[in-house]
Amino acid sequence: MSALPDSITSLIAALNKLPGVGPRSAERIALHIVQADAPVVKQLAEAIVHAKDRIQFCTTCGALTEKSPCPICDDPRRDGSLICLVERAVDILSIEKSGTFRGKFHVLGGRISPLDGVEPEDLRIAELEKRLAHEPIKEIVIALSTDVEGDATSFYLAKRLARSGLKISRIAYGLPAGSGLEYADELTLSRALEGRREMT
Ligand SMILES: [Zn+2]
Repeated sequence: MSALPDSITSLIAALNKLPGVGPRSAERIALHIVQADAPVVKQLAEAIVHAKDRIQFCTTCGALTEKSPCPICDDPRRDGSLICLVERAVDILSIEKSGTFRGKFHVLGGRISPLDGVEPEDLRIAELEKRLAHEPIKEIVIALSTDVEGDATSFYLAKRLARSGLKISRIAYGLPAGSGLEYADELTLSRALEGRREMT
């Protein structure tokens, strides 16, 4: 039996569903919230709802954005012949922080994982093929994580996307094996981009 009032217990349960928030952190945050000043809590609640209302996925690249197409897709100074293919929208932030990539992006939305029921048609591959048909894309740099599924997905894509006049490369150098982009520091990421290897 919990000594906590029901409303706190359900707040803890809701927070515990967030990524990276375990039961103890959820409890600490919940207890902090219920004891904080009302305006502070109201501001937090409003910021959550406001962000959720405003943010959408860019219909072209899949980035998180307040307007579609997103500022990167819309930026004429960026190299439209070079596309960096990432797993998740947040990976764009990691690469942008490295400050070396001047091309555009495409978010795959996951990687092929038959065991988890993720098939190629669940990913944004058809959207990328559409872009290949309409945009002057000359190179795709695959920046998926370097584990078994990331490898398998990269090889599948290199085969499926292969067409004349298109270079497909993959970042590899310096990225720790089995890790995602979020764990790489900026220098490692910019070296990984520079040291990309051609796949086709
Ligand atoms: Zn975009």
